[in-house]
Amino acid sequence: MRLVLVGPPGAGKGTQAQFIASHLSIPKISTGDIFRYNVSTGTELGKQAKAYMGRGDLVPDEITIAMVVARLQEPDAQSGFLLDGFPRNVPQAEVLRKLLAEWDTRLDVVLELVVDDDEVVRRLSGRRTCRQCGRIWHVLFEPPARAGICDDCNGELFQRDDDREQTIRHRLDVYAEQTQPLIAFYADDGILLGIDATGPVEEITERAMSALRRFIR
Ligand code: AMP
Repeated sequence: MRLVLVGPPGAGKGTQAQFIASHLSIPKISTGDIFRYNVSTGTELGKQAKAYMGRGDLVPDEITIAMVVARLQEPDAQSGFLLDGFPRNVPQAEVLRKLLAEWDTRLDVVLELVVDDDEVVRRLSGRRTCRQCGRIWHVLFEPPARAGICDDCNGELFQRDDDREQTIRHRLDVYAEQTQPLIAFYADDGILLGIDATGPVEEITERAMSALRRFIR
């Protein structure tokens, strides 16, 4: 299955992407994760992306698209993939459509995770990430046993620059302006599915899987 996950920052895309990709046995390709990895290892790509990410802006299309095109050509992505965080605007979606058509294929479904802005701010401003293993905690919803320390590996927890309230509000504006138009773009194609992304994580995965079931071939 070739699947795209869309939704505002904080909709739980990363978490759901992981579960859904594993249920469907397809690779999860997360542009945010690839950028963060490159920033933390100090590659040229990371240096180019860092300032945009810190401000909550989109990384320029030519940088992002080149990275995704290279990733989609890897062997594990040949029979299906789940894209998390890409496309993020209509020009990226158009490039993706053209690329897949050149490869004689197309997207099967675009799954939208629906949550409102206040819920997003509540979720993201409490989010803490482990510097060592990358596990995500939440000061209210999933606190570690000792504040600021990861239960799994004793690593130090930190708040991503783009998870601060002011940056979150900016990321929401960027989402509304640039990413929201994708909803109409894919609805026109007849491949958009929306699910309510509030409630317990396992219930959201259940909802996603039952919505996706009829697209599994
Ligand atoms: P995410 O983890 O998906 O919220 O992505 C974190 C940040 O990476 C975003 O705020 C952007 O700066 C950058 N990013 C991720 N995906 C894209 C994309 N498709 N286009 C441009 N920038 C992106």
